[in-house]
Amino acid sequence: MTPSVKRKVTGAIGALLVLALLTGRASPGFPLVKVGAAVGRAIQHTLRAQASRPATAAVPALADVPSGYLALYVQAARTCPQLTWQLLAGIGKVESDHGRAPAPGVRHGINRAGCCAGPMQFNTHNGPPSTWDTYGDHTPTHVYQPRYAIPAAARKLCADGLTAPTPRDPCPTVAGSPAQHTAVYAYNHACWYVHQVLGVAARYTTTPPPPADPFTRALAHNPHLRPTSARGCDPAADLRDPRLDLRVQSLLAVLAGRWRLRISCLHTGHSTYVRGTRRVSNHTLWRAVDIDQVDGQPVGPHSPAAHRLVAWLDGLQGPLRPAEVGSPWPLGHRPYFSNEDHQDHIHIGYGPM
Ligand SMILES: [Zn+2]
Repeated sequence: MTPSVKRKVTGAIGALLVLALLTGRASPGFPLVKVGAAVGRAIQHTLRAQASRPATAAVPALADVPSGYLALYVQAARTCPQLTWQLLAGIGKVESDHGRAPAPGVRHGINRAGCCAGPMQFNTHNGPPSTWDTYGDHTPTHVYQPRYAIPAAARKLCADGLTAPTPRDPCPTVAGSPAQHTAVYAYNHACWYVHQVLGVAARYTTTPPPPADPFTRALAHNPHLRPTSARGCDPAADLRDPRLDLRVQSLLAVLAGRWRLRISCLHTGHSTYVRGTRRVSNHTLWRAVDIDQVDGQPVGPHSPAAHRLVAWLDGLQGPLRPAEVGSPWPLGHRPYFSNEDHQDHIHIGYGPM
């Protein structure tokens, strides 16, 4: 397909999806007629604007964001002119997969860190006043309901720098504006988090993969991440490829702050399937990394640095918690596993985003 034909087809698919969404057929579980008229109009307005510009049709967003959430993001984005529904949706995606994550604290209770709750993961245990007291509606149970949590997140972002960014950009290497960086950094103090949220927001805005941003380029030049082709893969090129999963990029940036890693495989050169099965490997989908040296020591049953790294991964909660950790140590609980294929490297993989 030529690019222009492809663009037209993508635009047509986008228009069909919009039509299906607006008539409620796209998601029988949440017909749009049940959404308030004002919200329905807001969505129509936003989506019509996109449908008329096929190059920015947010087809991935329409496929991924539940329509009830989409309606709430679109409406809440009106809180201040600098806020977009894609930015809100980026936070909702990273924090709870739009309320679908099975993690503790999303639908009830509190998260594993003991602070936060609901689809937007508001801190209900700091303060007083807690973050939820400040931006929510003072009803503790409402933190779990997207119709209260999403507008509260919008108020927080608008108050936290979207309208008046700090003079010093907290994450200058991340794509996006200093105002977006300030506001998202205030939501969770980590530039990998800002990178991840803005990366998802960009994916919801444009159809082709976003170009490599400075964060991705910095990753490829990080002296603590050394790719090797010794094991038959070519991770050097993959490391600067924007298709590499945002969680893999972010995790590598975090790990490189603690250890020196030799990366033996990302995507290129890995077998399509998990060995001995017909299951597509997460490497094939750009969602996994293999590490064969930690702090200069080859990974093996007797390498303490590699063992420390594997154990440290268990403390990760939220968006960076891996779905698969293969290593010489089984550790006895998910996401860990061990077998004869994982005696000389650490495999870290993620599920669907
Ligand atoms: Zn692997």
